[in-house]
Amino acid sequence: ARHVSPNFITEIIDSDLSAGRYKKVVTRFPPEPNGYLHIGHAKAICLNFGIALDYEGQCNLRFDDTNPEKENYEFVNSIRQDVEWLGFKPAQVLFASDYFEKYYECAIQLIKDGNAYVDSVSDEEMRQLRGNLETPGTPSPYRDRSVEENLDLLARMRAGEFPEGAHVLRGKIDLGSPNMKLRDPVLYRILHSAHYHVGEGWHIYPLYDFAHPLEDFIEGISHSICTLEFENNRAIYDWLLDSLKGKCGFPENPRPHQYENARLVLDNTVLSKRKLIIMAERRYLDGWNKPFEAPVISGWSDPRMPTISGIRRRGVRPEAIREFIRRVGVSKTNSRVDLSTLDAAIRDDLNFISPRVMAVLKPLKVVIDNLPENHLEELDAPYWPHDVPNEGSRKLPFTREIYIDQDDFMEEAAPGFQRLTLGGKARLRYAYNITCEAIVKDDDGNIIELLCSYDPESKDGPRGVKGVIHWVSAEKAVPAEFRAYDRLFTVANPDAEEGDFTDYLNPDSLKVFKGFVEPSVLQDSKDTRYQFERVGYYWQDPEDSTAEGLVFNRIVTLKDSFAE
Ligand code: ATP
Ligand code: MG
Ligand code: MG
Repeated sequence: ARHVSPNFITEIIDSDLSAGRYKKVVTRFPPEPNGYLHIGHAKAICLNFGIALDYEGQCNLRFDDTNPEKENYEFVNSIRQDVEWLGFKPAQVLFASDYFEKYYECAIQLIKDGNAYVDSVSDEEMRQLRGNLETPGTPSPYRDRSVEENLDLLARMRAGEFPEGAHVLRGKIDLGSPNMKLRDPVLYRILHSAHYHVGEGWHIYPLYDFAHPLEDFIEGISHSICTLEFENNRAIYDWLLDSLKGKCGFPENPRPHQYENARLVLDNTVLSKRKLIIMAERRYLDGWNKPFEAPVISGWSDPRMPTISGIRRRGVRPEAIREFIRRVGVSKTNSRVDLSTLDAAIRDDLNFISPRVMAVLKPLKVVIDNLPENHLEELDAPYWPHDVPNEGSRKLPFTREIYIDQDDFMEEAAPGFQRLTLGGKARLRYAYNITCEAIVKDDDGNIIELLCSYDPESKDGPRGVKGVIHWVSAEKAVPAEFRAYDRLFTVANPDAEEGDFTDYLNPDSLKVFKGFVEPSVLQDSKDTRYQFERVGYYWQDPEDSTAEGLVFNRIVTLKDSFAE
């Protein structure tokens, strides 16, 4: 089966291959290591690596690290881990910063060809001279510097002779273009910063529109896939590569081409590293600095975060993410995706691999009066429902004292309530029918215990009892903490609301319960995903759960709870 369903990009690739324009399909995934990857990146990863697999080509993991102020190895390492976890193996792992010398060589070539110049106007002046959609741009007084002067200035910029902002290198393209990006874009700026990967030594750093096309050309990329916001940048991409093909060691033919597709935008969360870093590190990348009160996010890998590492820690499998991305598809128009689409893909994956066991999150003690003190019966309980074609069962200890969930008992039945009531009957899953004979309350009137009787003849069937409830043995169950995660934001699109996006963080995005799980889980490997019957899909938190203190994360609810 193909990794990527046919779409407008694969059609282009098919026609490129049949026309012989490329011998091999080469793609890349080019993250900037300035944060952890999020589920939007998963779309780009599945697309680029998936295409390489489908066409027996190759896909590089390239760190687009041309911005020394925001990047580091923590981010590099997390990105490598996330790509691998998603199930893809890069043909090569590359750093754009390793091409700095090559960019410089290209800049010299552009100057020599009259395609670039050093400009020395202020930022403000440059903005004004650039004009707008109604007015064409006006040439800077420095636009016609000689090749010699431009080469001299660029060399001295590189050597660190000038303060930041004194000069920039600009492409000499078209000041009258209706595409504002083509009005002499800045290619290089002065920056006196060390770089996490290449260290000291550079005082000029390339901008995206200069660096990115060259990265693709250097690596022999055939199809360079990006998101729709870069549509207007494509003209610079083409201009630059057409200016340099056959020069600086580049082939005349073929050269890479850029194709844009929709960004993944997911409801009830934010997918922007600039915003995620604020929640993960309380760090502000853009100087924006508004303190906020918020439920504490523990970091990049908090299970509520839309990061790959957060989703992984929550318990989602890579199979589910890949299936979700497949369902979203590849398109030329932006749209928002509902969280229920993601949750459905997660459930569809977990359904077939998650044994059904029982856990009680809000325990209410039940004493079964007609059982002796030390009664211990081992009941046989299947792990799987009839519609899942897996085999296997475990033993469930049935004892005089058990726990049921507080929500499964009402002193007096409300309309439609079919579970246990005072004087009423309910069935214990895989066990017997019980009848509630009496209630024990504390001094404040809270129900703390139920006194019940069981029907020893009811083991083989419900016999007229409608409500089936889950339970665990009070003596044999294992205490555990349960963390139920909910959507991170209370509104679908926090960016579209008034005020700051952090104002819309969901204060109930984490609920913690102290309850009990049946003892069979102690025999399983730690990474087992379970369906706790009637409760949700859970697994042990990989960081906080220990043999002495089990901690379970809710991966996803059993049903779509977003329908409200
Ligand atoms: P962010 O806004 O989160 O910083 P970015 O695009 O600046 O995103 P990069 O590290 O440059 O982050 O992204 C690497 C690749 O992932 C790019 O090719 C980019 O197009 C793609 N990508 C990033 N976010 C999304 C998204 N939400 N949907 C699809 N592709 C995405
Ligand atoms: Mg980017
Ligand atoms: Mg960004």
